[in-house]
Amino acid sequence: MDIVENRVVIIGGSVAGLVAAALFGEFANVLIIEKDLQPAELQIGRSGIPQDQHIHSMLEGGRVVMERYLPGFTETLISNGSRPIDRSNDVAWFHHNEWKLRYKDGGLVYLQPRAVIDQSLIACLVAKLHTKIEFQYGARVTGLLFDENRVSGVRLSNGVEIKCTLVVDAMGKCTTFPKLLQVTPKTVTDKINVSYSTLVFEFPEEVTFDADAYIVHPTETLNRGAVVNRINATAVANGTPGCSYVICTQFGYGEAARVHHETVEEFFNTLKTLPERIIYTLLQQGKAMTAKPSAYLFDKQVHRHWHSVEAMPDGAISVGDAVCCTDPVFGRGMAHAVMGINNLFPLASELVKGGRCAEARLVLFQQGVDPIPRDSFMFNVVNQFLFWVFRAQAHSPEVSRTLYRVAHYESSPLIMLNVMFIARVLWFGSIRQWVY
Ligand SMILES: Cc1cc2nc3c(=O)[nH]c(=O)nc-3n(C[C@H](O)[C@H](O)[C@H](O)COP(=O)(O)OP(=O)(O)OC[C@H]3O[C@@H](n4cnc5c(N)ncnc54)[C@H](O)[C@@H]3O)c2cc1C
Repeated sequence: MDIVENRVVIIGGSVAGLVAAALFGEFANVLIIEKDLQPAELQIGRSGIPQDQHIHSMLEGGRVVMERYLPGFTETLISNGSRPIDRSNDVAWFHHNEWKLRYKDGGLVYLQPRAVIDQSLIACLVAKLHTKIEFQYGARVTGLLFDENRVSGVRLSNGVEIKCTLVVDAMGKCTTFPKLLQVTPKTVTDKINVSYSTLVFEFPEEVTFDADAYIVHPTETLNRGAVVNRINATAVANGTPGCSYVICTQFGYGEAARVHHETVEEFFNTLKTLPERIIYTLLQQGKAMTAKPSAYLFDKQVHRHWHSVEAMPDGAISVGDAVCCTDPVFGRGMAHAVMGINNLFPLASELVKGGRCAEARLVLFQQGVDPIPRDSFMFNVVNQFLFWVFRAQAHSPEVSRTLYRVAHYESSPLIMLNVMFIARVLWFGSIRQWVY
């Protein structure tokens, strides 16, 4: 194939690749190359994203970006079975040995199996770009083409060469882009070692729930927790209308807290040991839909400093988890990935021609950077403050609202420097505990 003016090839057809396609599709033709076969409707368990079997909630900041580039996305998501819930009122959250306050926050979080998000993005992308977008499923990129000091295309495992003006690496955390480019970006890793174990449960119609999501957080003495999200029957492959469904994920940090289950019984056995039994009691009224829980081990956070590579060729950038992936327990990965892509908007018309890639790498690096070094004194101060914030959240809706706005990417963390906010945090999170 000859080089086509302004043609973007995206490697990886998951969240970051799909949203990058929506952005670059405004300026160029786009081809998405995905090594997995085209997923059937609502299919989970695709090998390219093994994490898709586990809980995936979507935060407001991420949804807003998806809606910006794919108008109608939210409506499609809901019609495909997503469950928008009030992130405070509809969530029962046990944290630091107490239940969080539940109040009408108005901010939403979207609950669904991961496949619902990907399917909705694909549908909206096709509707938006029509003939400007192509997908090649079951095709693996194994090489890059170079034209002097710029990347000018990709080579597939079957030897087919595809020329383009920009190659976007959206291959996720285990990207092979450094190998393909023969460069070694500086990579900062943090050991996390959090293990996931997940089951979907079906409930008869008469069972009632007093929340749409339940979270039992690890405590100082037990490094294990669990999350339950209610999901709609339409979002479950073979779901029965009228029945209720929940997806439950248990997670544990470090070797001692490893949650590995071979059977449903083992799943219940560890659930029983959590500091609050609410999830155990709830799930006993339902029936597990599979005999064996699915497992996932997230070993480390990875942040690749692509901008630091000397003599990095033009015509190539990385996005999403290929740049920065963080502890999944905070449920922020997708939002973080698409907000990084949103930050590329001012450069996009030049990027599709293969230019300004160095600037784009810097923009994405800065988004992923921890503002405070982990081994510094300030880091410990901030951590202590956050501990008080979480405790205060159980008593003060004002503190809770601010925390949610920051954690869900709706506001800058700087709003936490407000004097009234700090005063409430100190009172409800610390001093009040001593007074009473
Ligand atoms: C257990 C777990 C739970 C999580 N829960 C949440 C949550 O609740 N909320 C949230 O926002 N985030 C969550 N995340 C994070 C989220 O899954 C990721 O941040 C997100 O999927 C990153 O998207 P991505 O497109 O960058 O990469 P990925 O989703 O990893 O996709 C990479 C894609 O590239 C394809 N690919 C790889 N190599 C090639 C190649 N050579 N050729 C062609 N295609 C290739 C793969 O098949 C895959 O489709 C969770 C993560 C984990 C591990």
